[in-house]
Amino acid sequence: MIRFRDVSKRYGALTVLDGLNLDIARNEKVALIGPSGSGKSTLLRTLMLLDDIDGGVIEIDGRPLTHMASRDGKLVPADERYKREGRRGIGMVFQSFNLFPHMTALENVAEAPSSVLDLSRKEARERGTELLEMVGLGDKLEHYPSQLSGGQQQRVAIARALAMRPQIMLFDEVTSALDPELCGEVLSVIRRLGDEHDLTMLMVTHQMGFAKEFADRICFFSEGRILEQGSPEQVFGAPQQERTQSFLRAVM
Ligand code: ATP
Ligand code: MG
Repeated sequence: MIRFRDVSKRYGALTVLDGLNLDIARNEKVALIGPSGSGKSTLLRTLMLLDDIDGGVIEIDGRPLTHMASRDGKLVPADERYKREGRRGIGMVFQSFNLFPHMTALENVAEAPSSVLDLSRKEARERGTELLEMVGLGDKLEHYPSQLSGGQQQRVAIARALAMRPQIMLFDEVTSALDPELCGEVLSVIRRLGDEHDLTMLMVTHQMGFAKEFADRICFFSEGRILEQGSPEQVFGAPQQERTQSFLRAVM
């Protein structure tokens, strides 16, 4: 359902995505691993339309996300309105939690559904309450971010992304800023989401143990391309490429 075709992205002279191809099936759980600077976050950002691409196309269910038809039927780069529509089905959670500090947990989660989806305030708060209960924070609805632990803040951020009812969830190193004991609670929420909901999930992670357990497929990034991919057993158990082997030796 998600298709990257020959996608390239440059920053000045630096090529960050280099003719990248990747197909992800509906409900598939994919972990992106690889060295720092290899383009993993950039890939998620281009899918979220936070970064424009310089070449290729990204499609969701056959619909180009990055390009739209002009009046004469040619594909032209998408305008902001078209992108906003496309982005609606995608939720993203970042390493830093990016919660609104002046809003309670519940207000953080209910804000977008009421302003973007036109849910009534009451409906948005009900949906928000349900989601916060689901991530184990039913007793913290009225807490402000500064009154929550890092792991709790990250779970609010996950609930907030889910409030828009996305079909696709993107996670970029969501546990990197957390103490090890707080990682577990966030990862278990993510694992449960994957088990209980129809969600396509893409996750950038440095935690190989979690990637192994969570993902249907592991993609190893190197220099803006996917150098190697396969099941966790294949990639972790019998990596084919020398670059993958040396990376895994260093991190595992
Ligand atoms: P990490 O594991 O460290 O998070 P990554 O694989 O997520 O790395 P990216 O964040 O995708 O890497 O960055 C890929 C390359 O693009 C890096 O060399 C980075 O410096 C560069 N880059 C990213 N964003 C910008 C920007 N806004 N301007 C210029 N260069 C950028
Ligand atoms: Mg990154």
